[in-house]
This record gives sequence, C-alpha cells and structure tokens, in this order.
Amino acid sequence: MIVEPKVREFICTTAHPEGCRENVKRQIAYVKEKGQVCGPKKMLVIGASTGYGLASRITAAFACQAATIGIMFEKPSNGKRTATPGWYNTAAFEALAQEEGLYAKSINGDAFSAEVKQQAIEMIKEDLGQVDMVIYSLAAPRRTTADNKTWSSTLKTTTGAFTEKSLDLRNNTIVTKTVESANDEELEGTIKVMGGEDWMDWMDALTNAGVLAENAVTVAYSYIGPELTYPIYTEGTIGQAKKHLTETAGRIREKHPGIQAYISVNKALVTQASAAIPIVPLYFAILYKVMKEQGTHEGCIEQISRLFHDKLFAGEIPMDEQGRIRMDDWELAPQVQDAVMDCWKEVDTENVKKLSDIEGYWEDFYHMFGFHFDNVDYSRDVDIQVEIPSL
Ligand code: NAD
Repeated sequence: MIVEPKVREFICTTAHPEGCRENVKRQIAYVKEKGQVCGPKKMLVIGASTGYGLASRITAAFACQAATIGIMFEKPSNGKRTATPGWYNTAAFEALAQEEGLYAKSINGDAFSAEVKQQAIEMIKEDLGQVDMVIYSLAAPRRTTADNKTWSSTLKTTTGAFTEKSLDLRNNTIVTKTVESANDEELEGTIKVMGGEDWMDWMDALTNAGVLAENAVTVAYSYIGPELTYPIYTEGTIGQAKKHLTETAGRIREKHPGIQAYISVNKALVTQASAAIPIVPLYFAILYKVMKEQGTHEGCIEQISRLFHDKLFAGEIPMDEQGRIRMDDWELAPQVQDAVMDCWKEVDTENVKKLSDIEGYWEDFYHMFGFHFDNVDYSRDVDIQVEIPSL
C-alpha cells in the first residue's frame, strides 16, 4: 500500500512503517553518538512506544545496553488501516535492539489494568529476574479503575474561563480560544488518569512480587511551562494531576524506602499527547523558533539523553526545592522566555511564519507519524502489516 498522511487537526490517522523505523533509527544514532552511560541494566518502560517513553527506552538500550520491557497501548494494522505509529516504532525498536543482541520485549495492553501489571511481573520474573529502573511515561485519555469505573482526563482550567491566542492547526491561522473551567468531576477524573495513583499501584505490585532490585530508580515525567500557559496547564486540570504525580514520588519513597522515585520536569515538545492541548501548540511553535535560534532546542531523545548523561547518572542528582529534576532548565531560561513573550505579544496570522517556527512544528508532527523523512521513498508500496517480534 502507498501510505500518505491523513491529518485531522492535531491527529494524523495514518502512519508510515518505514518512516517510523527511520524515526527510531535516527534516535538510536543520536544516542550512540553521545556515548555510553553507566545506567540501568534492566528496565521497564510504562508508555514505551512514542514520545518521551520511547526516547527513554532507546537511551537505556543503546547508551546503557539495558534489557527493556516496554508497555504500550497501540493498534496493529487490520490490513486496510495502518497501525498506530507506536506499533511501528516498537516493531522497529525491537528488531534493531535484537540486531545488537539486546533483550527487548513488549506488552500491548492497558497499563492501568491489574492484568497487564501481572503480565509484566511474570515477564520480568521469567526473563530478567528483577528490573533496576522503571520509567512511567503514560499519557492517556482515560483509565478504568479496579472498581470498573472509567475516568476521563480533561484539558481545562480550574480558575474560570481563560482566553488566549491559539494556533488553528487546520489552516495555521491565529485565532482566539477560550478554555472553560472544569467541574469537580472533570478535575477528579484528570487526577485519576494523569496523577500518581497508578504509578504507586505499579510500584506496590512490582515490590510485592519481588521484581524490583534494591535501590531501583523510578522516574515519572511532568511539565510546568511558562506563566503564559499556567491557566491551561500548571494551574489547570492537567497541572493538578501533575501535582498529584509529584507528591506521589514522595509517597513512593516513604512507603518503599528501597525505591528512588523522581519526577523529571521535561521540555515542551510536539507529541501525540501535547498536540491536543489548546493554546499550547502556538507556544511550542514560538519556543521552537527561539530555542533553535539560541542553539538550545532539543527533541525527546536529546532531552532524555541529557537526563541520563548529566542528571540521573552523573553523581549527585541535581534537584529543585521541590525535589524535581529540571530538564526544562533551557526552556525556562530568561533569555528564552523573554524572547518568546515578545513574539507572543506580536504574533498574528500575517506574521506567524516569521515569528514562530511553524514549519518546525509541523515537521515534528509529521515525523511522529513517520512522514516527511527525506530518505524514505513515500511513493513505494509498503507492507502495513508489520509484526512486533515479541508479540
Ligand atoms: P505520548 O502520547 O507520545 O506517549 C504516551 C505513551 O503512553 C505511548 O507509549 C502510549 O502507547 C502509552 N499509553 C497511553 N495509554 C496507555 C494505556 N492505557 N496503557 C498502556 N500504555 C498507554 O506522550 P508524551 O508526550 O511522551 O507523554 C509522556 C509523559 O511525558 C506524560 O506524562 C506527559 O505529561 C509528559 N510530558 C510531556 C511533555 C510534552 O511536551 N510532550 C512535556 C513534559 C512532560
């Protein structure tokens, strides 16, 4: 089949298997170029198929030679529709890891469920004995809890309606967008889905099963961003969930003193999860321009590679007063934020191409789905039914 991108606002409903493989290959090449790190040897990645979780899996495997088990929620192709990008990424990752003799297996299922936790525990017991690192990198729209109740995550404010400039992704125009305030149920749902409860459940389950090594490290990812987006992010429903996630790191350390639990606050990047947040994509596009001009722009792989090399495994871990690792240090640098705010004030439909890196935004977007790689021949017929070796 010849696979073309089918974009609907912030989602692309097709993915290119060879392009996704190229995406994974480029990330591996970056990690190898950066050299080895004395990091994990056996790692579980929850949310391993795209974005920050995939970058974490690639870094652990190719910079630390770690055996990895990855958990994801992806769809294979049914022969007519392509698979989701995370499916193709994982197929490519496993094949490329195995080529180098690295253990890599994956579980495709709902990480929130007790069944998938049990499956992961069995796999660790049988194949690895224990894991010494767990990355928690889920971004999910909903979660069904043990009582069979399904909670939904909402991207709303908590302090009244918020109106700001926004990028209309359908036609690259600047519009004004109002985000409404969440009700109590929506706020509770977001905390249930994106807060730390499930991270704690994982840590309890892995500890009780004896599959976590002594002094195992676990890291969950968070975001803060600039004051401009506080109403929709940090002070919004998702920010409240992230606050719960951050508090959970402390709770894990208290309950399981043998676990080193950390929060890493990462940089704003285009991923399937973040593209869906209103107002934020315009900030991303301006941020990309400023950080590229200042030579500090990073993608997921650059962020996670730096997390491993400079923060997690370089001696004492540098943390802020709330005990968080700050990978958003370059994003929030005053010289970056001042320049972003200058552009933000001025940006409109006429000057958006000049004041923001809208092309870079879209380039990252297409790359996520395996499109727009100059060395992939998109006119060629490709087999969309790709198998993941371990599944
Ligand atoms: P993403 O959408 O690229 O990845 C989400 C991952 O979770 C995928 O592997 C997906 O398969 C998996 N997943 C979703 N629901 C699942 C389920 N029920 N069971 C199993 N797996 C499931 O998202 P991302 O942007 O990489 O986000 C990962 C984490 O990083 C999130 O906590 C997010 O808040 C955080 N973060 C993101 C940004 C950003 O700008 N993108 C910045 C800082 C922090």
